[in-house]
Amino acid sequence: MPAEQRRGRAQETELWIARVRLLAVVFAVLEVGVLTQDYPSGYETVAWITTALFAVGAIVFFFVTREAFTPLIGLAALVFDAAVIAAFATLYSFEYGSPTSWALMFVVVEGALRYGVLGATGVSIALVPYLVFIEWWRSREFDGPGFLVDRVTFPFGVFLITGLIVGWLVNRLSREAVLADTRAAEAESLRDQLGRRVDLLEATNRCARALASSLEIDHAFGAFIRELRGLIDCDRVTIVLVEAGRAEVLAAAGRGTDTVFPAGSARPVRGSVLEDVLEGKLVYRPTMQADLYPEEQDLLALGLRSRVLAPLQVGPRTIGMLGFVRAEEDGFSTEEIELVSLLGRLVATAVQNIRAYEAERTTADELRRLSALRADFVSLVSHELRSPMAAVIGASRTLQARWRELTADQRQSFLALIGDETSRLADLIGDVLDTSRIEAGTFSFTFSDVDLGEVLRDVVAAADLAQDEVRVSAEVGGALPHVRGDRERLRQIVQNLVDNAVKYSPAGAEVRVSANSDDGWLRIAVADDGPGIPFDDQKIIFDKFGRATVEGGTKPGTGLGLFIARSIAEAHGGSLDVDSAPAHGSVFTLELPLGEV
Ligand code: ADP
Repeated sequence: MPAEQRRGRAQETELWIARVRLLAVVFAVLEVGVLTQDYPSGYETVAWITTALFAVGAIVFFFVTREAFTPLIGLAALVFDAAVIAAFATLYSFEYGSPTSWALMFVVVEGALRYGVLGATGVSIALVPYLVFIEWWRSREFDGPGFLVDRVTFPFGVFLITGLIVGWLVNRLSREAVLADTRAAEAESLRDQLGRRVDLLEATNRCARALASSLEIDHAFGAFIRELRGLIDCDRVTIVLVEAGRAEVLAAAGRGTDTVFPAGSARPVRGSVLEDVLEGKLVYRPTMQADLYPEEQDLLALGLRSRVLAPLQVGPRTIGMLGFVRAEEDGFSTEEIELVSLLGRLVATAVQNIRAYEAERTTADELRRLSALRADFVSLVSHELRSPMAAVIGASRTLQARWRELTADQRQSFLALIGDETSRLADLIGDVLDTSRIEAGTFSFTFSDVDLGEVLRDVVAAADLAQDEVRVSAEVGGALPHVRGDRERLRQIVQNLVDNAVKYSPAGAEVRVSANSDDGWLRIAVADDGPGIPFDDQKIIFDKFGRATVEGGTKPGTGLGLFIARSIAEAHGGSLDVDSAPAHGSVFTLELPLGEV
């Protein structure tokens, strides 16, 4: 029991005794003034003086005890009461058999109340000399039998027995009081603990709600980190995702997040503490050391000393970590470490949900795009098929109906038209067939040593001859090293690039085809001064049916040529890319590895 509480209890007891003492004063006045007659001479005066002293003492003790309490006051009160009662008992011993000395029982009970069994025993023993004295005094001063030992032992025995009983009760009461106080304190601490747990649960709930508040990963984690402050107060918090051996900071808040591992930055996992975390372990670093994990150097420089890293676990896989950092050494309690681990699980689930949603959204977008492309393709192909077929049908019908009327030149030009349009149709059907073969994985190649310089010159010469609006020139410096590849397929790529460049160039412009080789690569570039391709479309044009939004209206086409061309380039271990900007023309570059493929 705390000292404060013990003093409060003792004061309460003392005050109660003081009140009883005041009542005893009234009782003494009655006894002295009304109920006792026939005093020997002078005795009544002494009795009144004793009563007056008793009254003064009782009042003083009452007020003193009300104000404050010290153990000394209790002892003084006990001695005072014993003295007053002894005085009365001595006074009234002139009456043989006076029961006044029995009032000493009050002192024994007081001793028991204040000091328990020990007090009661002590007071009883302390009263023995007085009992002897008063018996001697009575036998000497007044008539009656001589000194009777029994008149000493009997009251002593009664005092002791009564004192022991009351003392035992007092002892037991105080033990129970201590027990009750301990229980109350326990209940209070349990209530506090419960309160803290409820707060924790609410804060964890808020964090979980924040994570689920958005399907945008940045928003969700921004909101989560804001809520975290109510849950664990720390100097820095980071969420890191790991992919292909690199750790990318997804979100970070707190000290130094603008300079040290800011959100969006990435670094290799190798050598960092993440290697341990990725094994699914929760890592607690009570004191960071740069010689153990080099990344801790930067954190130490920020004045941070300890950190906890929880794995973000999705099934058996660890996809990243949630890290809390504090400025103090050994700054995390066991409960906080457990909480970080729980939060790690929450974050991992959220990341998984968001990723699943993103994958679903990407698939849905892709499906939508493909279905739109398919619809476009159907209308494109039907349009692309219909116009050459209409031309072929028209020309052949005219030739059939008006063969005799037409001059030889006219017949010649109708036949040329039929030839051109049918070869356009053949090209279109060829593209569609190539595409379906690429998709089915049955696109076949016949490899041999190919002199691409020759192929370039052929294609360029044919393209230049075939029309007279755009000049097509080749800049091939000397002999090019041979590549190993399928000659016809490689020609198809170059042909497609040159045809596109001519198709999209304005009249009077020039298309430049160049080739060079270094570092084991052969590079062929086809440059034009056409409308260029918007940046966003530059990826799409290599997709199946992908077509750019061209300024000044689209040209006829299916969007298959570049898809086929890139597939062929990649099958040769090479690549096909574009560098272009609207109104600045385009440069398509084909790169092929030299040597064995
Ligand atoms: P097609 O030319 O039949 O549409 P391609 O796959 O060859 O199909 O080209 C895809 C798209 O790329 C074209 O529709 C056009 O929008 C764009 N493109 C290709 N080459 C050029 C170029 N030289 N200049 C501008 N746009 C081009």
